Amino acid sequence: MSLSRRDFLKVSGGTVAAGVMSAGVDAGEAAVATEEKEVRTKGSQETKSICPYCSVGCGIIVQTRDGKLVNAEGDPDHPISEGTLCSKGQSLPQIVNNPLRLTKPKYRAPGSTEWKEVEWGWALDEIAKRVKKTRDKTFKLTSKSKVKEKQPDGTEKEVLKDFTVNRTDAIAHVGSAALDNEECYMLQKLLRSWGLVYIEHQARI
Ligand code: SF4
Repeated sequence: MSLSRRDFLKVSGGTVAAGVMSAGVDAGEAAVATEEKEVRTKGSQETKSICPYCSVGCGIIVQTRDGKLVNAEGDPDHPISEGTLCSKGQSLPQIVNNPLRLTKPKYRAPGSTEWKEVEWGWALDEIAKRVKKTRDKTFKLTSKSKVKEKQPDGTEKEVLKDFTVNRTDAIAHVGSAALDNEECYMLQKLLRSWGLVYIEHQARI
């Protein structure tokens, strides 16, 4: 279908009018939304917090009423994020109020197909016991590596030599994007003192 200049102006004029009308509706909706928000947060307690998702550490203002989170938004006074939040930070109320949210550790015994809820104390003791047992069983003081060694006749020969390593290859650690610099520093100290070499971060995998 070919459009004359006059038809084009009519069509585009109609589009502009529709846009103006929808802008009017949007303004109305915004007013209703503000009203709803005021009702939703009425009587709530405001607490400044930090988004738990990643180590950017954006500032969040959380509003709670009767111990339940009713609203969360960016903290304009926060020096890092200045009131902004990414989509994950904005969805915080959905995870806090989610009935499927895990609040206790779960354990699946070897050979079992079932996960069962366990207490934090039991889980931490069990992790400590297993780390100790595995480390004791697998800790190596030395390891052999091939190196080139100069011979009396001036040639080089590949030989196997022992090197001090003080490590275990049987335990790995995966970190989290939520760890900040100080936590990473402490974790590195701890894990290196155990002799771990496989220390990874979930964002790199
Ligand atoms: S997940 Fe998003 S909002 Fe949360 S700290 Fe990281 S960047 Fe900020």
